[in-house]
Amino acid sequence: MAEVIHVGVLTVSDRCSQGEAVDESGANLQNLIAVGELFRGKVSKYMCIADDLLLIKETLIKWCDEMKLQLILTTGGTGFALRDVTPEAVKKVIEREAPGLSTRMVTESLKVTPLAMLSRPVCGCRGQTLIVTLPGSKKGSEECLRFIAPGISHAVDLLMGWKMQVEKTHAALQAEGIKCGHSQHQHNHSHCRGYSHHHHHHHHHHQKEKASNEESKADISRVSRRPRKSPYPMISVSEATEIVLSNAEKCATKTLAIQDALGFVLSQDIFAKDPHPPFPASIKDGYAVLASDGTGLRTVVGDSTAGCSPEMSHVRSGMCMRVNTGAPVPPGADAVVQVEDTDLVKEADDGRIEVEIKILKMPYQGQDIRPVGSDIPVGEKVLSSGTFLGPSEMGLLATVGVTDVMVASKPVVAVLSTGNELQEPGQPLQKGHIRDSNKMTLISLLRQFGYPVIDAGIAKDDPTTLLTILKGAFSQADVLVSTGGVSMGERDILRPVLVSDFNAEIHFAQVFMKPGKPTTFASCQFNGKKKLILGLPGNPVSAIVTSTLYLLPLCRKMSGRTVCENTCIKAKLSEDIQLDPRPEYHRVTLFWNPGAELPVAHSTGNQISSRLLSMASAQALLKLPPATTELKILPVNSVVDALLLGM
Ligand code: AMP
Ligand code: MG
Repeated sequence: MAEVIHVGVLTVSDRCSQGEAVDESGANLQNLIAVGELFRGKVSKYMCIADDLLLIKETLIKWCDEMKLQLILTTGGTGFALRDVTPEAVKKVIEREAPGLSTRMVTESLKVTPLAMLSRPVCGCRGQTLIVTLPGSKKGSEECLRFIAPGISHAVDLLMGWKMQVEKTHAALQAEGIKCGHSQHQHNHSHCRGYSHHHHHHHHHHQKEKASNEESKADISRVSRRPRKSPYPMISVSEATEIVLSNAEKCATKTLAIQDALGFVLSQDIFAKDPHPPFPASIKDGYAVLASDGTGLRTVVGDSTAGCSPEMSHVRSGMCMRVNTGAPVPPGADAVVQVEDTDLVKEADDGRIEVEIKILKMPYQGQDIRPVGSDIPVGEKVLSSGTFLGPSEMGLLATVGVTDVMVASKPVVAVLSTGNELQEPGQPLQKGHIRDSNKMTLISLLRQFGYPVIDAGIAKDDPTTLLTILKGAFSQADVLVSTGGVSMGERDILRPVLVSDFNAEIHFAQVFMKPGKPTTFASCQFNGKKKLILGLPGNPVSAIVTSTLYLLPLCRKMSGRTVCENTCIKAKLSEDIQLDPRPEYHRVTLFWNPGAELPVAHSTGNQISSRLLSMASAQALLKLPPATTELKILPVNSVVDALLLGM
């Protein structure tokens, strides 16, 4: 007998999810289960979402595969209205149908009302989860749950037992040396041991990866039923950045010879193993003296040039030694007097030898000497893990004598353009086509910062084509960045394909910004590895703005950097700027007038997001605040944040 059944209640309703109506059915179902008279259950998950096929599917898959709920009750979306798609979503998710449960609900409901003939329930199992679609009304959903309640506990028991059964079968097959049941794919025997829920998934993936001409499961045929509003919540740019960064994991570390390490990020702290300078060094060209001798005459007893050994003769009172910048200060001396503060008194050998000089200015102890370890004490941390290795850092590594460094690998990024209208720049332009510019922009952006890039080509707006290309990209890259196909058109297929064919989780798909509102971020497992997908809008300017805001920080994080965000400075407006209802990223060039406190930002002109020409000369992105009822125009000289480009 099952213990407490873990139940999820999923209300599917456009109106309730928008807050235009109260979800009475969902509340009632939760209550019924809590009371416990139907079966021993506990509601561990409740959500209310829009009538959106993808969203419903995604939620169900998550509740089944990740949360491992034992029973999911949906309520709503089972009728004949155009937006009623819950049964369709459930059908896509379940692996085995349970028509008996549906029949029971319909036959019993018909006794209550003939309208029950217009309900379209679908029930079935996915893994060890039973999914039941209840009608949307409070009364109807309660009635239907009561009709099937007597069978629920037993069904859940069987689902658990079903798993044991399969394990047994496989163990038996293995013992007999028979290739296990899923013979179409290349599982070896050891893979088949312990047929667990988890394994079950791999099974699916393997099947997918096997067939090269596999068709996408994304169904985009019902154009009139696509959502008219994005079903995803709109989040802020900072929330979106946060989500991107929290999903980006640092790549594996590796050791590199120093000559190969430029542009990588340290994955270890670097300490100085000896002091720098390693000897007391002169800062000036001049004479090493005893400060206590004061001004006056000195006998020149020799010289110390850069590179000579510091173990030279002692300088005693009344003497001095000629020294060069960077040369060791001889023992005994405690000050250096620059040559400008001395006079020649006596020379020999026709000027080849200095015999006596005069110190004109009173020296002090330690004058113009860098003591041992004054730049870098021995044992000091000179570079921290997470630091980008640029020219100065490379110099520091050389200073402390490091020859091998541990760094993080860089993420491999696949760049994809989507759109039936696009063609590679080299081809003669066909009717209705344009040349693909985004791929070039993004590949160049990534190359500029040293990230390895894979050109994933141009995908036609067709789910199966996209599926094939994505599989290829995921097998080689850690991150896929695509442009186009994330707007609200019926040919915008990135999200459907990711969800239907890769079980991807969509982390966000709407950001409160301009341009870049439909920016989409998702992740999925592929061949046991986490892949990140950044779907940028197709407009060239949107693509460059959003790649600056999300792609670059993502790559920085994965390549091991501790500071991932773009550099932000303040700038003054050169003219009044009309504000948009959304926070706008406005492309500008910056000018520093001598003596001015802040740079002045000049707009690059028409900011319409398709106008790549406005991008060409931009040095920064102004972060303009959204318009309010009080503030619609930001006046000249206002100070605003500016993200620097090209850093
Ligand atoms: P989409 O985001 O796919 O709806 O595309 C929005 C606009 O950007 C359309 O006008 C596309 O033609 C254009 N566009 C999309 N991808 C590219 C690309 N790779 N290069 C140039 N323009 C593009
Ligand atoms: Mg497109």
